[in-house]
Amino acid sequence: MWKKIEAAPADAILGLTEAFKKDSNPRKVNLGVGVYKDDQGVTPILKSIKTAERQLVEIEASKSYLPIPGSPAYAANVQKLLFGADNEVISSKRAATMHTPGGTGALRVGADLLKKFNPTAKVWVSTPTWANHKGIFTAAKFELADYPYYNPETKDVNFDAMLAGLEAVPAGDIVLLHVCCHNPTGVDLSAEQWDAVVAVAVAKGWTPFLDFAYQGFGASIEEDRAAIEKFAVAGIDFLVASSFSKNFGLYNERTGALTIVTPSAEETAVVLSHVKLTVRVNYSNPPAHGGQAASAVLDDAALYDQWVGEVAEMRERIKAMRSALVDGLAARGVEQDFSFIKEQCGMFSFSGLSNEVVAWLKENKGIYIVGGGRINVAGLTSGNIDYVCDSIAEALK
Ligand code: PLP
Repeated sequence: MWKKIEAAPADAILGLTEAFKKDSNPRKVNLGVGVYKDDQGVTPILKSIKTAERQLVEIEASKSYLPIPGSPAYAANVQKLLFGADNEVISSKRAATMHTPGGTGALRVGADLLKKFNPTAKVWVSTPTWANHKGIFTAAKFELADYPYYNPETKDVNFDAMLAGLEAVPAGDIVLLHVCCHNPTGVDLSAEQWDAVVAVAVAKGWTPFLDFAYQGFGASIEEDRAAIEKFAVAGIDFLVASSFSKNFGLYNERTGALTIVTPSAEETAVVLSHVKLTVRVNYSNPPAHGGQAASAVLDDAALYDQWVGEVAEMRERIKAMRSALVDGLAARGVEQDFSFIKEQCGMFSFSGLSNEVVAWLKENKGIYIVGGGRINVAGLTSGNIDYVCDSIAEALK
């Protein structure tokens, strides 16, 4: 059966990590995959999570299945983080939350649900966007379309073009929006720009699908969710795919959530009954451990404070590395202005390095960057920053 088929290409980002692992260069640096590293180059287990896990080992009494949407306690905690505890969306029961295997699982379950009830819709994604967005919605049999987002000249959002693009999206179509820390560009919308996007969604009647994979990596847990609160106030249908992979460091525990908001508790209950069907025939019910650990942190005031501090530490370290990169390149006499990298937020930087430079750095220096020039700034450490700056300066000579 398989003899006639050719091997598929490696995933653009995860394939880079495979190549990195095989590289024998002792100074190699992986700035590809979006995983946080501390200054020792380690992806740490957060202390708050470690404490919660120790407690769980003692109190966990069964490994029986979770309900199809996951544990209700987890769903309640996710909603508090997404909307703020006092949000009307929660008290009026307009939101239903499913524990999904990561943010990827949330996007796919949401895509399958939407395909079932809105089969002719197109899904609109930003130019550029996380490569897997296109993969996920294509796999769910959607036709994709693009709306303008990044302007490589100004290194910022091309907001006029974006808004014009969104105004032309037909009613009933789906628009995928990055809530904060846009991947891959690192440039986000201002509060006023979000107001304008929400107004267009209301006026035009398209459905926002909000991808929220980096809460806390932009400005703070609360500030990063501001756009979600604006959509909630608007009283329209929308979906949120959120992830605890990055902000809880729970990458391999596959801990995410799909939250569906409708204008009424009645509609939400009906939609929830259908998402359950979607999940049942897919992976049946979610894995428990990551959600239990995150919930234990969110339920305990001291662990919560510790976690907020740990997220801030990750955020601030990435910011410090942004400055070190920009200043390090300037100090080496690089003429190109890289100061915009300091203004970007989240884990990623659209560095402006050409594909030729990216290829040269891989071949000659063992520095791995995603094609298009996206750098995972969290891969920089005080131990490799000089080597990276020297290498980029040499490449740009
Ligand atoms: N959305 C974006 C924009 C991402 O960058 C990621 C992870 O890199 C995800 C969603 C999904 O994250 P995960 O499935 O690892 O929770």
